[in-house]
Amino acid sequence: MSCIFCDIVAGEGDASVVATGPRTVAFLDLFPFAPGHALVIPREHAVGLSDLPDPDAAEIMQVGRRVAVAAREAGFAEAVNLFLADGQIAGQTVFHTHLHVIPRRAGDGFPAGFGASPQAPHDELDAVAERLAAAMPTS
Ligand code: 5GP
Ligand code: ZN
Repeated sequence: MSCIFCDIVAGEGDASVVATGPRTVAFLDLFPFAPGHALVIPREHAVGLSDLPDPDAAEIMQVGRRVAVAAREAGFAEAVNLFLADGQIAGQTVFHTHLHVIPRRAGDGFPAGFGASPQAPHDELDAVAERLAAAMPTS
């Protein structure tokens, strides 16, 4: 099965590499929201969060944090959003999981925020928390 992000890991894709780690590669998005917009991916192919091993998830977050700090330090960002689309309905278009590091500036128009949802009743929150806790994978 061909995968454009596996090609990038193999050094054969279209990518300006920013950082590499034992389990991850960080490179610039080819269609950036803003200069410095980067993606952090696992070297081992995983479609999404369900098949991503914990050590890969941990290093993705670690490298994402460092790229975010670098984006501020290098003057590309006043602030940063980290974003991961897990599944097509969530907006995922490349099915090799990836964390977006998105440099932000005042008035840049990025659709951040959750809108004005009403506060949920506590018994409802408790029931939802119980269902999630029961379904939690151990690794
Ligand atoms: P998604 O929509 O799945 O969250 O993000 C996929 C991202 O990959 C998009 O922002 C898109 O611009 C980027 N992208 C797609 N193809 C390539 C490519 O060949 N090289 C690089 N560097 N980025 C790509
Ligand atoms: Zn892949």
